[in-house]
Amino acid sequence: MEIAAALGSDCVTGLSNEVAAERLQMDGFNQLPSKKIEPVWVRFFKQFKNLLIIILLIAAALALALHEWLEAGVIMAVVMVNAVIGFYQEGKAEQALRSIQSMLAEHTRVIRSGQLSELESKHVVRGDLVSLQAGDLVPADIRLIKVSNFAVQEAALTGESIAVDKTASASATNAPLAERKGMAFAGTLVTQGQAQGIVVATASQTELGRVNSLLTNVAQLTTPLLRQMAQFAKALTVAILIVAALVFIVGLSRGHSIAYMLMAVVSLVVAAIPEGLPTILTVALAIGVTRMASRHAIIRRLPAVETIGAVSVICSDKTGTLTRNEMTVTSLATAGQVFSVSGDGYAPQGHINSFNELGFEQLRTDIARVACLCNESRLVNDNGDYRVEGDPMEGALLTLAHKTGIDLDALAQDWPRVSEIPFDSRYKYMATMHACTEPKSPEQLILLKGAPEAILARCVSAANCQVWDPSFWLQQITDFAQGGHRVLALAHKKVVVSQVERQPLTHDDLYDFELVALLAIMDPPRDEAIEAIDACHRAGITVKMITGDHVQTAQAIGKLLHLPQTEQALTGQDVDTLSDTELTHALETTHIFARTTPEHKLRLVSLLQAQGKIVAMTGDGVNDAPALKRADIGIAMGKGGTAAAREASDMVLTDDNFASIVDAVGEGRTVYDNLKKAITFLLPVNGGESLAIMLALLIGLALPIMPLQILWVNMVSSIALALALAFEPSESDTMQRPPRRANEPWITRFVLWRIIFVSILFTVGIFTAFEWALAQGYSEEYARTLAVNVLVAMEVFYLFSVRYLRRSSLFFNGLKGTRHVLLAVGLVFGLQLLFTYQGWLQALFNTTPLSLTHGLLCVVAGCILFTILELEKWAQRRWHRHAH
Ligand code: ATP
Repeated sequence: MEIAAALGSDCVTGLSNEVAAERLQMDGFNQLPSKKIEPVWVRFFKQFKNLLIIILLIAAALALALHEWLEAGVIMAVVMVNAVIGFYQEGKAEQALRSIQSMLAEHTRVIRSGQLSELESKHVVRGDLVSLQAGDLVPADIRLIKVSNFAVQEAALTGESIAVDKTASASATNAPLAERKGMAFAGTLVTQGQAQGIVVATASQTELGRVNSLLTNVAQLTTPLLRQMAQFAKALTVAILIVAALVFIVGLSRGHSIAYMLMAVVSLVVAAIPEGLPTILTVALAIGVTRMASRHAIIRRLPAVETIGAVSVICSDKTGTLTRNEMTVTSLATAGQVFSVSGDGYAPQGHINSFNELGFEQLRTDIARVACLCNESRLVNDNGDYRVEGDPMEGALLTLAHKTGIDLDALAQDWPRVSEIPFDSRYKYMATMHACTEPKSPEQLILLKGAPEAILARCVSAANCQVWDPSFWLQQITDFAQGGHRVLALAHKKVVVSQVERQPLTHDDLYDFELVALLAIMDPPRDEAIEAIDACHRAGITVKMITGDHVQTAQAIGKLLHLPQTEQALTGQDVDTLSDTELTHALETTHIFARTTPEHKLRLVSLLQAQGKIVAMTGDGVNDAPALKRADIGIAMGKGGTAAAREASDMVLTDDNFASIVDAVGEGRTVYDNLKKAITFLLPVNGGESLAIMLALLIGLALPIMPLQILWVNMVSSIALALALAFEPSESDTMQRPPRRANEPWITRFVLWRIIFVSILFTVGIFTAFEWALAQGYSEEYARTLAVNVLVAMEVFYLFSVRYLRRSSLFFNGLKGTRHVLLAVGLVFGLQLLFTYQGWLQALFNTTPLSLTHGLLCVVAGCILFTILELEKWAQRRWHRHAH
C-alpha cells in the first residue's frame, strides 16, 4: 500500500527495528505534553492564597503599625515556616500521585521486522504497523489497512459516544473527522473487532494533539471531604472575624485601649483558625493512595480513596480475580469416551491418555486444529518456563494442542486464516475461517470454540459418532462443571466456497457444525481470595460473584471460596425473566450470577445502588465500561483487562487479584479514620484556645496565652503532632466493623461531642494553670509559660487518646505509639524545652524558665486529661452496648 511505502514501512513486516529506533530519536516519545507544571515560585506563592495567611499578614502589618517589631517579625517568620511546610508536603504528595499514575502506562501491539510484540504506547513511531483489537486505546493516528468488524468510539475527539464503523478505504484528508472511515485516531477506543494499520502521526501531530485536549490525567489533590473541609474552614474564618469584631467592640466599651484590644483580637483569630488542617488532610490522603498502590490498587480518581472505605457490596468477576487464571485442560470428552490429560501448567509436556491408540488419528487432528488455529494467544518458552501471551484459557488450549502430538506448524501452514469473529462475552464464542492451501481445493474450514451451550446450539452431529444426542453432551457438561471445571466446546465444519466468493465470516455462517470435543479446564481459586472473602464477611461487606462462566462451575468454585447460599445461583437468563422488584428481592440471598453479560452487571449495580448500597464492581472487557462507570468504585484489571475498562474505572488492580480490592477497602477505611482523627485532634486545640481568650476578655482577666504563643502552639506543636496521625496504621478492628453509612456527615454527632468536650477540657487546663500560678505569686510571663506547656502536654496525651477514637488506648501498642508518633512527641518535647529555656526564644515568645516541679505538673495535667478521656470512652462503649 502507498501509505506504508511513503512512510518507509511494510504492510506485513512493519518497520525494521533500526528505523523505528531512529524515528524515536528524531520525533521523540509518542505522548502529549502534560499540563505545564507550574514554576516553583508560583506554587510557593499559592500557599499565600489562603484567607488565614492573609489575616496573619494583616496582623503582622498591624503589629508593625503599633511598632511591635518583634511580634511582626515572629508572625512573618511563622507564616513563612507554614508556607514552606505546606509547599513541601503538598509537593511531595503531588509527586507521589504523579508517579503512581505513570504506573498505568498503555501498551500497543506492534509488528517490527516481522515480529509481533507489545510496546509501551509512547514508543510507537510513524510508519509502525500496529495491530488493534476491541478494548484497545488507539495510540496514534493510524491509517487502517485491514479491518474485521472494526468499530471505534471517538468521544475523546468528537464528543460522540456512539461507535463508528471503520473501513480500510481511503477518504479525503479534508473530510470531517467523523467521516474519515479509513483512520483510527489517537485517544479513541476500539469497541469491537480487529484491525491493522500504519501509524501516520504521533504525539502532538495527531488530531488529538491538534485539538490540544490534554488527556493526561493530572491528579487533582482534592476529594469531597477535602472540599467540604475547605468550605468549613472558610465559613469558620468568617464566623471568627465576626466574633472578633464583636469582642473588639465590647472590649473598647469596657475601657481597654485600642492597641490592647487589637492584639487581643489577633490572638483570638489566630487561636480559632485550624491552620494546619488542610496540609494534614492532603498528606493523609496522599499517604493512603501511596499505600494502596504498594498493595496493587492504583487510584485513578482521588475521591475513590474516600468512597472505597464505605463500600458495602463488592461485585467481582470470577476468572482471574477470584481464581488464579492459570488454566490447564485436565480432561476431554468425545462422543465415545472421556480422556484425562496429564501435565502441569502451560508446559507442552504430558499427553492425552490412551489417545495414541489407533482409531483416534482424525480426532487428534480435529482437536489440535480447533485448539491451535482458533486461538489468538502465544506460548512463550522462557528457559523452560512456559507463559502465555494473551488469554490464559487460549494458552491452555495451545498446550493441549501440543499434547496431541500433531505438528502444529504444518497445520497452520496448511490452513491459513482468512477471516474471524473475535470472542465477545455477549455471544461467548470465537470462530475462524481457514482456506486449504492445496492447489485448486475449494475447501474451507470454519472452526468454532466457546461456551458449550452456545456451541451445542450450532451443532448437528458429533465427530466419531453416528448419532447426535444432545442430552449426552448436556450430562457431560454438568459432570465437568460440578467438579468446578470451566467447560469449553470445540466444533468445526467444512464449507465449499469458490475463492472469488470468499466473504468475511459472519454469525449467520455459524450453523450445522460438528462437535469435536468438550474440554474440562481447571482454574483453581486463589488461596488469598478465600481469606479475603472471609475478611469481607467480618467487615460487613457482601461479595457477589458475577461471572460469564457456567452456573455449576460458578457454584462449585463459589463453595470453595466460602460464598454463602451457593445453591441460590441465578443465570443471566433467569435475571432477564425477573422484574426489578423480584431481582432486588433475589439479591438479598443470591451471591452467584452466572452466564451473565455486561448488561446484567449494569442492571445489578443499579439495583444495589437503589437499595442504598455503595457498590464496587470489577470488569475487564470493553463492554464492562458502563457498569464500571455506574458503580461507586469501578475496578479495572491492570494485567488482563482492556484499556477501555481502565479508562472507565476509578481504580486499577495491578495484580487482578480480589484480595487487593479488600486490602484497598481496608486502606480506604484507614484513610477516612485518619482524616477524622486529624480533625478531631486539631479542632479542640483551637476551640480550647479561643474559648480561653474569649473567657478572659469577657470576664476581664489577663490573657492566659499571648498571640505569638498561640501561633507557636498552632503552627509548630499541633502540626508536628497531627502529622503523625496522617501516618497512622490501620486499627486492628478496621475490618471487623460494618462499613460507614454512605451519607454519614464528616463531623458526626460523636466527633462534634468530642470536639466540644475536649475544647472545654483544654480551656479548663489553660485557665487553671494560669490562674493557679498567678495565685501562687508568679509573674504573668511565668504563668503564661506554664499555661502553654500545660496545653502542649495535654495535646501530647490527647494524641495518644485520639489514635483510638472509641477503643481504649490503654494497651501495649496504644501506649507505645508508632515511629511517627514517637518522633513527633520527641520533636515537640525538644521544641518546648527550647521555647521555655532557650534565651532568644524566651525573648521572642516572652517566656521564662519553669521549675522542674512545674514541668512535671504539665505531665500530670496531660495524664488527667488522658484519664478523663479514657473514662469517657468507657462510658460511651457501655452506653453503645446498652443502646444496641
Ligand atoms: P468472568 O466473567 O468471571 O471473567 P468468564 O471468563 O467465564 O468469567 P467471559 O469472559 O464472559 O467470562 O466468558 C464466558 C464464556 O465464554 C466462558 O465461560 C467460556 O466458555 C467462553 N470463552 C471465554 N473466553 C473465550 C475465548 N477466548 N474463546 C471462546 N470462548 C471463550
